[in-house]
Amino acid sequence: MKHTIFITGSSRGIGKAIALYLAKQGYDLVLHCRSQKMQAEAVIAEIEKLGQSARLLQFDIGDRAQCAEQISHDIETHGAYYGVVCNAGITADNAFPALTGEEWDSVIHTNLDSFYNVLQPVIMPMIRRRKPGRIVTLSSVSGIMGNRGQVNYSAAKAGIIGATKALALELAKRDITVNCVAPGLIATEMLDELSSDVIQMEEIKKLIPARRIGDPKEVAAAVAFLMSEDAAYITRQVISVNGGLC
Ligand code: NDP
Repeated sequence: MKHTIFITGSSRGIGKAIALYLAKQGYDLVLHCRSQKMQAEAVIAEIEKLGQSARLLQFDIGDRAQCAEQISHDIETHGAYYGVVCNAGITADNAFPALTGEEWDSVIHTNLDSFYNVLQPVIMPMIRRRKPGRIVTLSSVSGIMGNRGQVNYSAAKAGIIGATKALALELAKRDITVNCVAPGLIATEMLDELSSDVIQMEEIKKLIPARRIGDPKEVAAAVAFLMSEDAAYITRQVISVNGGLC
């Protein structure tokens, strides 16, 4: 039987790259988006061309009730997942004195509360499969080092690392690995605002030992390895994909 992997935020950016990479490796996929349904459907079409099957879930990962209802319904209909990639996330950057309550709350709800909202409904069905399973979360260099203008985002992404390591301890004896991938600067829409400032971008590249921005496929490759059967003895780890930034 083919393994099924659920990837949040797979309509574009890193999530889309992960979906296509995993499809090429023979996994069936459950894609997910909040608003960009047409983009997600285009990703499904690409996956189907690769000979894999994919279906789409659409909900806000910050909404606990929606997550529980939609994920549980999908599992009841199609069976428990082999793997989950908690990828969806947002930024709302501002210097801390100017950071609004809304900017703090939206980033914490979407990036950190979603760890609980998405994973809580999938865990018991995954355990009941009594087979190996894989969970990969997406943190960020910002969660490891802290980044100016991103106190909210750094807090959420550091929280994801703690939650990932704790869950890994709980699930290790069940053959379910739980790891985190922490990207540096990767070329997606999330970087658009930064990329439009050519001078600032050149300054940022000087800080990256590899002297370039990463490609989403380079993050996808790390996630795909952690999803593979060969990665069975790797759990509770944070793998950075950041050109040597930290
Ligand atoms: P993008 O902005 O390109 O894509 C974000 C994805 O998340 C989209 O699929 C979007 O869905 C989905 N999403 C956003 N908010 C919600 C929500 N509330 N509910 C459900 N889905 C949501 O982001 P990236 O691909 O750049 O980032 C992917 C992950 O990698 C994030 O966790 C990010 O923090 C992390 N990361 C990214 C870095 C970078 O440089 N790009 C660096 C370090 C970490 P929709 O299309 O429907 O809006």
